[in-house]
Amino acid sequence: MKSIIKNFKSYCDDNNLRITPPREYVLEIIASSAKPMTAYDILDELGKKLNKPKPPTAYRALEFLGEHGFIHRIESLNAYVVCHENHKHEGGQFLICDSCGAVEEIHLCTMPKTLQEKVKSQGFNLHHWNVEVHGKCKAC
Ligand SMILES: [Zn+2]
Ligand SMILES: [Zn+2]
Repeated sequence: MKSIIKNFKSYCDDNNLRITPPREYVLEIIASSAKPMTAYDILDELGKKLNKPKPPTAYRALEFLGEHGFIHRIESLNAYVVCHENHKHEGGQFLICDSCGAVEEIHLCTMPKTLQEKVKSQGFNLHHWNVEVHGKCKAC
């Protein structure tokens, strides 16, 4: 967790980005959670560190962290996890256990060829891509 915050700080310094308390706290909160967190969970936790944070404060921090590859949004759970791949990649690929809720980031950093070809043949301009595989984890 410490190294995640350290990376975040040096990344911001190197890129002239502001390290605001909400940005740092939100990253800290997500990084210290073993499970994906919803924006509500995050706002709740943020309330322990800041005085009555408003939802837009949390959302803006989430947006910033997502944009710079520090966290990922799991679309099918509407929740956030920290990025374990020392950013940055074009998408998130996850194995999601429907039984215990564990989420593992798999680093399929290259898009499968069949999908790549499909995107190309449609003349589509790819921005990012996301794979969420649901099932049961080994422990379950
Ligand atoms: Zn990642
Ligand atoms: Zn499980």
